Amino acid sequence: MMEFSVIMQGHERKYNLEHIIKAVFFGAQLFFHDGEKEDKIISKWDGKTAETWILLHGQKAVGRFSMQEDTYFLRKDPYVIARSFLNAVQQFDSPRLPWGILTGVRPAKTAARMLREGLSGRQVSKIFQEELLVSSEKTVLMLQAAEKELNVQKNQLPNGCSLYIGIPFCPTRCAYCSFISKTYTDEKILSSFLKQLAEEIAETGGAIERNGFVIDSIYFGGGTPTTLTARQLQGILEALRTHMDLSKVREFTVEAGRPDTITEEKLLLLKEYGVDRVSINPQTLNSETLKKIGRAHSVEQFFSAYSLARKVGFHAVNTDLIAGLPGENLEDFKTTMEQIIKLEPENITVHTLALKRASRLNQEHADVSNEESLVSKMLSLASSELKENGYEPYYLYRQKNILDNLENVGYSKPGYESIYNVYMMEELQTTLAAGGGGITKLVDPRTKKITRIPNPKLAEEYLRQKNIILNRKKEI
Ligand code: SF4
Repeated sequence: MMEFSVIMQGHERKYNLEHIIKAVFFGAQLFFHDGEKEDKIISKWDGKTAETWILLHGQKAVGRFSMQEDTYFLRKDPYVIARSFLNAVQQFDSPRLPWGILTGVRPAKTAARMLREGLSGRQVSKIFQEELLVSSEKTVLMLQAAEKELNVQKNQLPNGCSLYIGIPFCPTRCAYCSFISKTYTDEKILSSFLKQLAEEIAETGGAIERNGFVIDSIYFGGGTPTTLTARQLQGILEALRTHMDLSKVREFTVEAGRPDTITEEKLLLLKEYGVDRVSINPQTLNSETLKKIGRAHSVEQFFSAYSLARKVGFHAVNTDLIAGLPGENLEDFKTTMEQIIKLEPENITVHTLALKRASRLNQEHADVSNEESLVSKMLSLASSELKENGYEPYYLYRQKNILDNLENVGYSKPGYESIYNVYMMEELQTTLAAGGGGITKLVDPRTKKITRIPNPKLAEEYLRQKNIILNRKKEI
């Protein structure tokens, strides 16, 4: 594990600096304001010019970069600081950074904002490539997603809002899971959770009515909502019908992520209550990998759950895949991709594995390298195969600790883009959330300022904070 002392002089841009250092030294541990480590990064800022010193394995490199007034990004200190770091690190090797110095999880949101400001696609593309050093491949991807965002935005319902219901339970825990979902056997907690959720739905309905919101899209996520029995699911769906006006809903999605939780009875029930999209996620169609990542379902279970969903007949089915799963090579990923494409789901979401903390994989990615990584090749393969088969990227996001600082991309057949995913990713409208792990985001229609109200992820904590949660809903 690489460890660096990081010393900032003349600035406090810790977030940006951390991002760019970790993009180059994947998995490195940074010790800010602690000069004790052998390897050091010193980042200086004098109000105009940034200077970075890197001391690595006894060698020294210095990089400088100055503000450039007539630019879009490079007149702002975080970008200037990041460029000076890159100038220094390039003296060791040329790191391959597909996203350049771009920080933040929503690159398409930034691009869409620039398009709204009146810049042309060509201008935006030039700025991202020349100033932020984003690769041409990622710039194209980002612009395609930004254009889709603008389309979705044009067709938003006046006063529309999204509704999120969080069910934080799963049948087993996946090895790479970053969500604190539980495998529930404790019936008491489960039934208390469902009871409280119904109360929170009632309060959320009140908030929607008071504020004159119109529910545009609904998303049941988690966890895996279909971990619940058909009867339990029906209880939640009934609570929605009772406390909310669902007549204007244009899209209703349920994550049925784990194929081992899907039954015909549940799918028929969802359909009856207006669900028109389900997500059935194999992640990989390699049996060995499924065992390794603790999915506890077989490849066959995925295929039968998928055909069940087709038989019941939903408007759209999404399948999630993950690039970079342990032990998988390019051929394994290609085989999964080709089998999925043959099924013709309307949406295919390609995630890059994200690692929560120091791990063997982190270690393997810890050196500066200018070679295209395996996971990067997987993403390029996904992009070209999906394009050939009529899919287009429509939303993308990045995560912390994502392998090689890459991205997750939602692809869809034209006309099947999930509006909820775009709303959520680009923060286009208010989302009211109930249940475990739901984050209510109130978007001020005038200033676009966003107020976040998160619910606890763990069911026990959700129950413990009952009064706080319900009161917050009353205050909206
Ligand atoms: S299905 Fe999703 S939420 Fe559930 S354990 Fe796996 S990664 Fe975590």
